[in-house]
Amino acid sequence: MSAVAGHGAAVRIENCGKTFADGTRALEPATLDIARGETLVLLGPSGCGKTTMLRIIAGLELPDTGGKVLFDGKEMTSVPIEQRNVGMVFQSYALFPNMSVADNIGYGLKIRGMSKQERAKRVAELVALTNITGLENRRIDQLSGGHSEIEIKDLKVPADNLLGGEGNGFNMGQHRLAYGRLRHGMHNIAKAQRALDMAVGHVTKRSTFGVLLADRQAVQFMLAECASQLYIGRLMLLHIAYKAEKGMDLRQENSIAKVYLAHMVHHVIDTAIQLHGALGFSQDTILAKWYTQVRSQRLVDGPDEVHRWRVGRNVIKAFREHGTTALAAGGDLL
Ligand SMILES: Cc1cc2nc3c(=O)[nH]c(=O)nc-3n(C[C@H](O)[C@H](O)[C@H](O)COP(=O)(O)OP(=O)(O)OC[C@H]3O[C@@H](n4cnc5c(N)ncnc54)[C@H](O)[C@@H]3O)c2cc1C
Repeated sequence: MSAVAGHGAAVRIENCGKTFADGTRALEPATLDIARGETLVLLGPSGCGKTTMLRIIAGLELPDTGGKVLFDGKEMTSVPIEQRNVGMVFQSYALFPNMSVADNIGYGLKIRGMSKQERAKRVAELVALTNITGLENRRIDQLSGGHSEIEIKDLKVPADNLLGGEGNGFNMGQHRLAYGRLRHGMHNIAKAQRALDMAVGHVTKRSTFGVLLADRQAVQFMLAECASQLYIGRLMLLHIAYKAEKGMDLRQENSIAKVYLAHMVHHVIDTAIQLHGALGFSQDTILAKWYTQVRSQRLVDGPDEVHRWRVGRNVIKAFREHGTTALAAGGDLL
C-alpha cells in the first residue's frame, strides 16, 4: 500500500487481532503506524496474518473487539469499505479474467464513476509507472508466466560461446528431460494425492438419497482405484529415483512412468470431480482448473504415442537380445 505525494493518509491500526467464527486465529493483536506517503512491506510466513491485516485496513474484515483502524487520526473501524477510499490490489484470483490488464487497473475508478477519458489517463500513468507499456491490452493471464514461443532466425554463436560441445545438443536435452520427467511425475503424484484427499473430504460429508457417499460401495471402489494407481505411481518414481541415484540407465522406466503418471493424475482428478458433482465442474474448487492443466502432461516432454513407441521397441529388443522382456519392464534389478 503506498501513497503518492499529496494523496493518502497516515494509517494506524491499534490492537487489531482477528478471530473467525470457527475459532481460527488469523491475526494476533497488532499495532502499526504507517506515515502518509510511506511505502511499507509486510513480510511473513503463510498464515501469519498479512492478508488479514490488509483486509482490516481496507474494511473487508472487522477486527476483534478492542481493535481500531485510524486514518489521519480519524477512527474508521466501522466505516464501510466503499467509504474508506482505500485501494487494494489482490492476487490473480481476485482479478477479472475476462478483462484486459488496463480494464483491471481501471476497474476501481470506473466503479467510482470517473469519466472514461480521465480513467484512461490514470491507467496510462500507472501502466507507464509499472513499465508494462505495450502489454496493457493483453488478458491478465497473458501478462507473464506460463510458456512462450521463441523464434530464432539466422543466429550465429561464436565458437567460444558454444555450450556442451558441437552436436551434443540433443543428448543434453534428453538428459535434462529425463530429470524433468521425474519432476513432472512428482508433481503429478502430489496433485493426485491432493485431489484424492479432496474427494474423500467431500464424500465423507455429502449424503444423497439418505446415505453418505462414503458409505456407498461404488464410491469406495472409485477411491480404491485411485489409491491403487497412486501407489503404483509412487513405486515407479521410487524405482526411477533409485536408478538415477545409482547413475543407471533409466530411460525405459522413465518413459513408462511418464505416460502412466500423466494418465493417473488425470484419472484421479477426474474421479474427484465426478464425486464432487457439479461443484467439481465449477470453479469453486481447484479441481476443474487442474483437470485442464494436467491434460498437457500427455503431450509435454513427448506425447504418449512417441513414448509407447519407444517403450514397445525396447521390449522387443530386450526379448531378442536376452530371451526375456524383463530388462525393458522394470526387471533389471532382479
Ligand atoms: C504446456 C506445454 C509445455 C511445453 N513445454 C515445452 C518445453 O519446455 N520445451 C520444449 O521443447 N517443448 C515443450 N512443449 C512441446 C511438447 O514437448 C510438444 O508439444 C510435444 O512433444 C508434442 O509435439 P507436437 O506438439 O509438435 O505434436 P506432434 O509431434 O505434431 O504430434 C501430434 C500428435 O501426433 C501423434 N504422434 C506424433 N508422433 C507419433 C508417432 N511417432 N507415433 C504415433 N503417434 C504420433 C501424437 O498423438 C501426438 O500428440 C510443451 C508443450 C506444452 C503443451
